[in-house]
Amino acid sequence: MMAHAARKQLVYTEKDRCRVCYTCVRECPVKAIRIINGQAEVINERCIGCGNCVRVCSQGAKDFIRTTGVVWSILASHRPRVALVAPSFPAEFQEIDAPTLVGMIRRLGFDQVVEVGFGADLVAREYERMMNEGRHGPSISSDCPAIVFYVEHYYPHLVPALAPIASPVVAMARVMRQRLGPDCATVFIGPCISKKVESDELDEVITFTELRQMFLDGGIRSEGTTASAFDPPHAGKGAIFPVSRGLLNTLKRDEDEKENGIIVAEGRVQFREAIREFDSGLLGDMHLQLLCCEGCIMGPGTSAGGKRFARRMKVKEYVQSKLDHESSLHWEQEMEAASGVDLSQEFFPRDRRLAQPGDDPIQEVLASMGKQGPSDHLNCGACGYDTCREHAVAIAQGLAENEMCLPYAIEKLHRSIGELHISNEKLASAREALRQSEKLAHMGQLSAGIAHELNNPLGVITMYANILLDETAAENPVRQDIQLIADQTDRCRKIVGGLLNFARKNQVNREETNVVVFARQSLDSVVIPSNIQSLIENQMKDEMVWIDRDQMMQVMTNLLKNAIEAMPEGGMLRISLSEEGDQVGICVEDSGSGIPDEYMDKIFTPFFTTKGPGKGTGLGLPIIYGIVKMHSGKINVESNDDPAAGSTGTRFSIILPRTNGTNL
Ligand code: ADP
Ligand code: MG
Repeated sequence: MMAHAARKQLVYTEKDRCRVCYTCVRECPVKAIRIINGQAEVINERCIGCGNCVRVCSQGAKDFIRTTGVVWSILASHRPRVALVAPSFPAEFQEIDAPTLVGMIRRLGFDQVVEVGFGADLVAREYERMMNEGRHGPSISSDCPAIVFYVEHYYPHLVPALAPIASPVVAMARVMRQRLGPDCATVFIGPCISKKVESDELDEVITFTELRQMFLDGGIRSEGTTASAFDPPHAGKGAIFPVSRGLLNTLKRDEDEKENGIIVAEGRVQFREAIREFDSGLLGDMHLQLLCCEGCIMGPGTSAGGKRFARRMKVKEYVQSKLDHESSLHWEQEMEAASGVDLSQEFFPRDRRLAQPGDDPIQEVLASMGKQGPSDHLNCGACGYDTCREHAVAIAQGLAENEMCLPYAIEKLHRSIGELHISNEKLASAREALRQSEKLAHMGQLSAGIAHELNNPLGVITMYANILLDETAAENPVRQDIQLIADQTDRCRKIVGGLLNFARKNQVNREETNVVVFARQSLDSVVIPSNIQSLIENQMKDEMVWIDRDQMMQVMTNLLKNAIEAMPEGGMLRISLSEEGDQVGICVEDSGSGIPDEYMDKIFTPFFTTKGPGKGTGLGLPIIYGIVKMHSGKINVESNDDPAAGSTGTRFSIILPRTNGTNL
């Protein structure tokens, strides 16, 4: 017979609205929703158009295709135009009575407005025959297109069990073609999304909500609309079809399952269970009467808002008043007139099942989510799958992602927070170092300027002081004063020299140097009082290091002088040399007074000194810091100045890269 209509993308995701809550994944009976890069995406080939995802998405991120444009163009054509109205309309249009609604639909431009309920009457009679004559084995009703798609895609071997009977709307379309000729255009108006692709015998299908939109767009309101009756043929009991157990009512069958041989199942959970049991042969010869929604009255193409029982009541009320007022004789005649209409329907398997992954890949996926053993399977359902295993299968099939697992995501979040914490700390210390070196750079500029200006006049003073000294006889009493001027000026020149050193342009001339020999030379270049014991402790195998000898010598002598000055009563002075990987450590350690905690962050600041006036310049450590930095090295201080906390003393450790000089 006729085929399904060309497959359009029925349902799609509004990506910027999707908040990835996985509710749609959970509600989709066929797992046709893929999560990719944290975005939900409907896989059209797998979708059965049940519209559950549209119904449950609180963000309005799932929507279905709108086809009112096609209907408007049909209405503008010259073909006879028929609106086929689903019997669930009283549930949707509770604020408008039936004749007014019919009038409004006519005003859109339809030539005829008919009830699909009559098609349901024909179809019900056909089911009755099928079951009475027993010419069909165990069967599944085929009037709900979502159910038909489900069987064709996921139970293709059960396709022969589908009742070979057209759905009410297809039956009605055939009746109308018989009446008006093959050219007539049929538009179904109903509660259902999957109807849009049910059959190519319908010209177009719109939902009730789309019909409301057309009324709005066409400026059609109930006020001022001339009420009018449906065009014949009128529905009989078939109008009750869309409520739960509707077919049973239409068939006048007993409620008892054993008696009537019919099992009724509705809604996304029940219908699947019923088909599963049917497939395993548990249900014997029973006929399955299945609806994907809980009665068509709850279809996704109806306006939002539950009120299931009120809706059901409205449909029943409508049917009752209809049966009360319309002549059953007339109905019998119409049924008779339509008996020549072909009500058969063929279905074909179209397997859309995905290959089931083997156990190894599933275990691998589970392990990648930190699920090693059964106790890690929380089966919490947060991902939208009932069990961790189902989720893992979906991941292996490319339908889902690890991140959908809540415990896994939380764990990952905790890890990231930890890492963020560490990098924050690193950032803070880097900022501190930057601040320090900026300060030093400014000080350097300033002191270079001052030093440069002072250097010349100091030179002149030194020169004249020395000339005067030479010209003054040894016994002259001013000679001592002149000597003092010469000495103090010399001291000034040394300070200024230090400043110039401090501000020296960054240039390091590395030479290969034996660091042990170098350390000994540094000890030799300072005067060590006899009450201080000095030693070198060497743990290096490779003693060669690339350094700027002049600059590093300045570092060593400054450190040694500080150490000696910290031990006026004598003590121990130790240089230790070590290596680790491609780094070299040089430590200068003393058993002196130690540095009080409150000075620790000041000692590298230029001009900070605790040595009385005329003694310290406060430039030693800043210069050391600059030189070590220029060698791409680090300098650390550890110190104890509290005898109660152990022996006092200070250790400066310098870590330098043992570079060969070419890679810098
Ligand atoms: P200066 O030696 O001219 O005072 P430095 O920059 O060399 O300037 O040192 C700054 C300060 O750091 C010193 O005044 C001293 O207080 C402290 N300091 C440096 N090295 C030591 C050390 N080995 N033991 C105790 N204090 C030290
Ligand atoms: Mg010093």
